[in-house]
Amino acid sequence: MKERVLTGDRVTGKLHLGHYTGSLRNRVSLQEQYESFVMLADVQALTTHFDHPELIKANLREVALDYLSVGIDPAKSTLFIQSMIPEIAELIVYFSMFVTVNSLRHNPTIKSEAKQRGSTDMYYGFLGYPVSQAADITFCKATLIPVGEDQLPHIEQTRKIVRRFNDLYAPILLEPKALVGPRLEGIDGNHKMSKSLGNAILLDSSQKEVEEKLKKAKTDPSRVHKNDPGHPDICPIYGYHAAFQPDIAADIHKACSEGQLGCADCKGKIANTLHELLEPMRERRQVYKSKPGYVDEILLAGTGKAQAIAKETMREVREAIGINYF
Ligand code: ATP
Ligand code: MG
Repeated sequence: MKERVLTGDRVTGKLHLGHYTGSLRNRVSLQEQYESFVMLADVQALTTHFDHPELIKANLREVALDYLSVGIDPAKSTLFIQSMIPEIAELIVYFSMFVTVNSLRHNPTIKSEAKQRGSTDMYYGFLGYPVSQAADITFCKATLIPVGEDQLPHIEQTRKIVRRFNDLYAPILLEPKALVGPRLEGIDGNHKMSKSLGNAILLDSSQKEVEEKLKKAKTDPSRVHKNDPGHPDICPIYGYHAAFQPDIAADIHKACSEGQLGCADCKGKIANTLHELLEPMRERRQVYKSKPGYVDEILLAGTGKAQAIAKETMREVREAIGINYF
């Protein structure tokens, strides 16, 4: 049997270049050798958007189109909707019996996201995010998880949950490993590119929108004149060169550091590279968009497959715990 890969994204908005470098690019290549699952995380979107559920509905099909447009192939990967797998919620309940509140409070990603949101009084669901991720991964027994680095603490927490469950009951769950893709900075140069910080270049942007975003992007603030030596290591644009054209990034680094490449020209170069990357995605998106109902069919078929796997895993889980009575 092929090993399984699982990942997902909260459907809080359309996906961006950061998702691509952090995770989507790896998902596309892994689907060739692994049985791949890609989850539209609508329930997890509620951890921060429970008061705006309309956003989730509005974004669900857009995120599905993002997946299909980057090259996630529905013949090779199973796309499914989290809320339609109630077994995930059931698994969270069992895990939550033996996961301590302190271990969640000390999870570095939970800590920094809570701080970013300015909240010290955390919602139960927000604090429990790593437990729900553990349930996503274990219901389908995935062993490889292609994610951005901010997700590493969650994968570590999943590994602990799996070990604890297997020790307590029976060794039926599998410990996953993370495959980390590079983190991309936002055009503000201060934070990781993120849907909710308004600093992202979306995958479905037109070339004009990409160029406008790049024009606004921060570069090395100490660089006043075109020929001043630059500091590429603190410039988000250099980060984009490194992520999208690593073969020429060293030359760009040198030319910027020596004051031979001005910021406008440097932005022009990355605009061309992004055009080559995004144009085939725009075309694929159009193909899927022009077939009404096709995306829904893909989602329903994938969700059906995930539901069957979830039922089987829960049968084993209940048997392992010993709460199967009849
Ligand atoms: P939100 O702001 O709503 O949390 P987000 O943009 O952070 O959205 P998520 O849905 O939280 O996106 O993340 C989905 C996946 O994409 C995760 O694996 C995450 O690590 C990865 N990812 C998100 N942003 C980046 C980024 N800037 N660089 C690399 N990976 C990223
Ligand atoms: Mg996030």
